[in-house]
Amino acid sequence: MKAPDHFKTLFSPQDIQVMVEGLAEQVDKTLPAEEPVVCVGVLKGAWIFHADFCRALKRPVTVDFIRASSYGAGTSSSGVVRILKDIEVDVRNKHVLVVEEIVDSGRTLSFIKQRLEQAGAASVKVVALLDKKQRRAVPFQADFVGAEVGNHFVVGYGLDWGENYRTLPGIYIVPGEALH
Ligand code: 5GP
Ligand code: MG
Repeated sequence: MKAPDHFKTLFSPQDIQVMVEGLAEQVDKTLPAEEPVVCVGVLKGAWIFHADFCRALKRPVTVDFIRASSYGAGTSSSGVVRILKDIEVDVRNKHVLVVEEIVDSGRTLSFIKQRLEQAGAASVKVVALLDKKQRRAVPFQADFVGAEVGNHFVVGYGLDWGENYRTLPGIYIVPGEALH
């Protein structure tokens, strides 16, 4: 699918590929060899990034998903995080990588990180493709970040706008879509 003409390209598919491979290389270097790793993708937005990132790692991993919600149907966070779908694999004594496409207020990831630590993971590290650092509502720092983005609403590569545009190949700014 092609992006509408008025969308502004922020990252091309090639830019994204470079970021994903760079992140996988960094993560591979820091994780202990020979120890089990679980990659937990945050649904739905991280679905494509998770698939590409896990396959770019040069080690075997177990794949799982979690789904939490701090967003309604609009473009701003409601502040309340709920788990809509929990992990299914046993993460006890395993190294967990939480794979998220974008950090905004930080609420979703701080909640998910706590949830995985409580589940007994040996370590929990967060890999975020994009980071809107200026928009934190709670203190939160991802361990690995692909790129920082400004105060824009972005879509594509898994990210939606009212459930549309997830299958766009790049990442685009939706002009005029204000953030609250
Ligand atoms: P947080 O809890 O950090 O505020 O929310 C993070 C989640 O909000 C992201 O995983 C993503 O699903 C959604 N989100 C944040 N910023 C954007 C954006 O610019 N575009 C889209 N489509 N979703 C976003
Ligand atoms: Mg997400």
